[in-house]
Amino acid sequence: MIRGWCPGALQPMESGDGWVVRIRPPGGRLDAAQAQAIADAAQTHGNGVIELTGRANLQLRGVTPATYAPLIAALRPHGLIDPDIATETRRNILVTPFADAAADALAADLAAALAASDLALPAKFGFAVDTGPAPVLTRDPADIRIEAGPTLRADGMDRAAPYHGPQDALALARWFLDQGGAPDGRGRMAALTARVQPPGATLPAPRPAAPAQPGPHPEGLLVALEFGQITPDTLRRLGRLAPLRLTPWRMLLVEGVRHLPALEGLILDPRDPRNRLRACPGAPACPQGRAATRPLARALAPLIPPDAVLHVSGCAKGCGWPRAADLTLTATPEGFDLIRHGRAHDPAALRGLHPDQLPKVL
Ligand code: SF4
Repeated sequence: MIRGWCPGALQPMESGDGWVVRIRPPGGRLDAAQAQAIADAAQTHGNGVIELTGRANLQLRGVTPATYAPLIAALRPHGLIDPDIATETRRNILVTPFADAAADALAADLAAALAASDLALPAKFGFAVDTGPAPVLTRDPADIRIEAGPTLRADGMDRAAPYHGPQDALALARWFLDQGGAPDGRGRMAALTARVQPPGATLPAPRPAAPAQPGPHPEGLLVALEFGQITPDTLRRLGRLAPLRLTPWRMLLVEGVRHLPALEGLILDPRDPRNRLRACPGAPACPQGRAATRPLARALAPLIPPDAVLHVSGCAKGCGWPRAADLTLTATPEGFDLIRHGRAHDPAALRGLHPDQLPKVL
């Protein structure tokens, strides 16, 4: 089942383990009070599961109709809840975790302009503020990208235009709508720019940076989370140590620190095989899941070559990694399909595998 929208804080989505509530921290940052509020809310009003998503949002699981209103009331004083659904939907902005003050200001200006606009963009339509010397978000989902210069680039293009302010990003979003980029309210920029290109894009796009790895960076320490999950206690304690920046890479940047105390669930070693695993919640947390995914991925981790990614998907939708992986196992009613160098719904090399066969096959 394809719903065509993502959950938000104001639009919870029903799942197998209750409602999913997704929070978009402004600017992709959390201070100590915000981290504490989210950790407390997950324990008090959800089932304690906190997940960092592929769009650098934090989602709480296991919320119920009875606990939803108190959860929103607890988060609102911390600036984590938008005034209405339309504003929340439009404020779909990925910000580089290595942002400097200028990038933070640019992202804040863009958020304010989107809030004041009347753009009716598709629910998944998003922006990336990625103005470092080399962009770090080019592999992550965004339709309009603001990169070094600053320049403005429609996703799918290798040329960009000069960026003078948020009015330019909004004009490009309007161009997308005017060109019929979202028939029936759905559509993505890359599909449109494959057919028609926006005017004024004459500058070469900057070359992307190599994928970021856990470990020290000039801005702080990048720590990875298995399947993007973090316990409330670890989030609370990390937030007390330093401000946090969210990434779409299942990693948090702990600002300005070089070392951390041992905290449950944090991965600091870039060679840790858990960094190479991708898996959605699967069954029973997701009602569409045909099998449990994460225990299987964990069990298979030692068999995965050091430079390969294993994606275990509870169904062909592939929410846990909506792109190609070296190896993908997709659960079906008949067993697991094995896809090489593809996505969860791509043609399988082997079909209907029993879990006992998988170690030998891999
Ligand atoms: S891919 Fe996973 S999370 Fe997405 S619908 Fe299928 S089972 Fe559910």
